[in-house]
Amino acid sequence: MVVKSVISDEIAAYAARYQELLKTETTWRTPCLAFAAADDPLFDKLKTWVRPTHAAPRDLMASARTVITYFIPFSESIALSNQRQGMVSRQWAVGYVETNRLIVDLNDYIATVLRKAGFDACALPPTHNYDKESLMSDWSHRHVAFVAGLGTFGRHNLLITEKGCCGRLGSLLTDAVIDPTGRPFNEFCLHRLGVACGACVEHCSFGALQSKGFDRARCYAVLQKNAKRFSSLGVADACGKCLSVVPCSFENPAKKGISREDCFL
Ligand code: SF4
Ligand code: SF4
Repeated sequence: MVVKSVISDEIAAYAARYQELLKTETTWRTPCLAFAAADDPLFDKLKTWVRPTHAAPRDLMASARTVITYFIPFSESIALSNQRQGMVSRQWAVGYVETNRLIVDLNDYIATVLRKAGFDACALPPTHNYDKESLMSDWSHRHVAFVAGLGTFGRHNLLITEKGCCGRLGSLLTDAVIDPTGRPFNEFCLHRLGVACGACVEHCSFGALQSKGFDRARCYAVLQKNAKRFSSLGVADACGKCLSVVPCSFENPAKKGISREDCFL
C-alpha cells in the first residue's frame, strides 16, 4: 500500500520548487489532493452525467487501482489581477498556461516516483482533450475530482475545493492501492446551501453564466477570444472572471462559515 502522505508530500514539494526550477511568473499555494478507487461505481455514471464516451479509469489503464486527483491553487494575486470585467488579465493567462505545463511535468514526475517504487502509472493531460463540437471532454478532471472527494460543484459549474476554485486540476492513474478519500457530506457552494450568493453569475458579463443556466458555447467563444489576444503565451484559452474574488475563490466558504458580505466583492 502506498502511503498517501508520500504522494501528497511529493506533489507539494514539486509544485513548490517548480517556480524556481523554471523561473515561472506564476506562484502557487500548496496543492490539495484526493484519491478514488479506480472501480468506484460513480465513474460509470460519468457516461451519463458528462457524455457517453467519458472514460472510466480502466478504459485508460486496464490495471488501474487508484485515481490520484489534485488541485493546484493560484496565489491570490493572480485572482486579484483578474477582477476587472473584460478580457482575462495577463497574469491569469500566464498562470493558466504555466500551470498546465506544471501539471504535465508534475504528472510525469509522480509517474516516475511510482514506477521507481514498483508500480505502474498513467499521466493524463491537464486540458485541450475535449471534443470541439460538444466542448466536452472524455476525461473531465473536475468530475473525476468530484468522484474522488476533492470538492463539490459550484453554481459556476467548477469544482470548489478546500483551497477554493482559483487554480487548476490534475489527475493520474496508478496500479498502486491507495485508500480512497471519500466524498464530502456537504455542499461547498453557498448558493447550493441555500445562502444568497450569485457572485460568480454577476462576474460573468458575457451572458455565458446566468442564473438560469450555463451557455457553454458563449463561454467557449470568450476563451477563444482571450486565447487569440494572448497567443504569444501559448494556449491561453482562459477567462476566470466567474472565479476571481468570489466567496469560493480561495477556500471552501461553507467550511469557513463566510457569507458574501464578508468578501471583498
Ligand atoms: S460565487 Fe457563490 S454561488 Fe458562485 S460558486 Fe461560489 S459560492 Fe457558489
Ligand atoms: S469563464 Fe468567463 S465566460 Fe465563462 S462563465 Fe466564467 S466568466 Fe463567463
